[in-house]
Amino acid sequence: MNQKRHTSPARRRDYHKSRSSTAPSLPKVDFDGARLFLQAGREKSLLRRHPWVFSGAVERLEGEAVSGDTVQVCDAQGGFLAWAAFNSQSQIITRVWSWQALDKIDADFFRRKIATAIAARKALKLDLHSNGMRLIHGESDALPGLIVDQYADVLVLQLGSAGAERWRDTIADVLQELCQPVCIYERSDSDGRELEGLPRRNEVLRGQLPETLSITENGIRIAVDVAAGQKTGFYLDQRDNRALVGELAEGREVLNCFCYTGGFSLYALRGGAQSVLSIDSSAEALQLAQRNVELNGFDAGRADWQDKDVFEALRKLRDQNRKFDLIVLDPPKFAPTAAFAEKAARAYKDINLLGFKLLRPGGILATFSCSGGISDDLFQKIIAGAALDAGIDAQIVHKLYATADHPVLLSFPEGAYLKGLVLRVAG
Ligand code: SAH
Repeated sequence: MNQKRHTSPARRRDYHKSRSSTAPSLPKVDFDGARLFLQAGREKSLLRRHPWVFSGAVERLEGEAVSGDTVQVCDAQGGFLAWAAFNSQSQIITRVWSWQALDKIDADFFRRKIATAIAARKALKLDLHSNGMRLIHGESDALPGLIVDQYADVLVLQLGSAGAERWRDTIADVLQELCQPVCIYERSDSDGRELEGLPRRNEVLRGQLPETLSITENGIRIAVDVAAGQKTGFYLDQRDNRALVGELAEGREVLNCFCYTGGFSLYALRGGAQSVLSIDSSAEALQLAQRNVELNGFDAGRADWQDKDVFEALRKLRDQNRKFDLIVLDPPKFAPTAAFAEKAARAYKDINLLGFKLLRPGGILATFSCSGGISDDLFQKIIAGAALDAGIDAQIVHKLYATADHPVLLSFPEGAYLKGLVLRVAG
């Protein structure tokens, strides 16, 4: 697509910064593709650099565009707001690629953006801790709909928007050039794909997938199944939190609920836990978890595994009067959006109340929510309610978030999905 740009240098300044109702109109930028005009007043969220436009904010589309095309987003007067990827099939009708009138959305653009995201991880020294990390975190890395996770020398790509889908080959070429992986695997099979009207895809995109794959995270080896595992294969976002829990585990009887492939359990075993009971309802995940114990040469005798529903298992443990010194609750996303918050709140309260009851005095609860629909505040309130009902006094000793390779763009608070509390119950 040919984007002609006729902006004078004076217009290159950031004219979005402090625009009030009396501010001069935005400059017009010539473009021979389609232009999406917003209704008057609906440009506000874009001026705050939120990268989504909902279909209800649109006045009209001038010109033709099909899903994935780059369109120019304009205010009601036709003033330039952003270059964005169009998707007629999504409620999020466009996602912004760039706020700069002078940008052209092409291979060079993606090379720059991807290189910037990778350089940010290097600057944050994330490779000192693990050779598994998120290289690109969608909107928060200014690449809406694009997730790229690195597992040693394999990259996993997850495309969640029509715009990212359109540029799949370009993105793969750039990743190949910059990272030289042995394989780029595509795990575009998240639920969000359907909302975007995109087919599910789970296959090798470039190179060849090694038969076995593992990462070394904080010195712990973790086998990752990128083809059949959950998400892109592993929950990279909990890296720092796993390390913290590992440090607290010494001498304790640990219960790890929703353990997946054993992340927190492995750290607890290395940290000198007396015993670790891990529960998950995925038999495949538990198999890999036990392999991970072997891979690290940990004493399998200290680890027990239950293939069970956590809600039921916790009740059973309560009825058996079992007690633990450290409990991890890391459930799946109960509330993908705020619409599910109430139902999710009941589920969080349920497991946390049971968790509190299973703790010995002086015990520690590390409890998480990865629900975008549950705010930090609401989560803390739910946990406070659970402690109250359990008749337990507890202190927050740590507030936790996703690790730094999952940054949150200030103008995109939706990016902050993972929150956790480490609580110490009274002795
Ligand atoms: N703590 C893990 C990630 C947990 S992801 C880590 O650090 O890697 C959530 C896990 O919950 C998944 O493994 C999923 O299989 C499991 N799960 C979902 N619903 C469940 C339920 N009702 N009972 C038990 N496990 C469940």
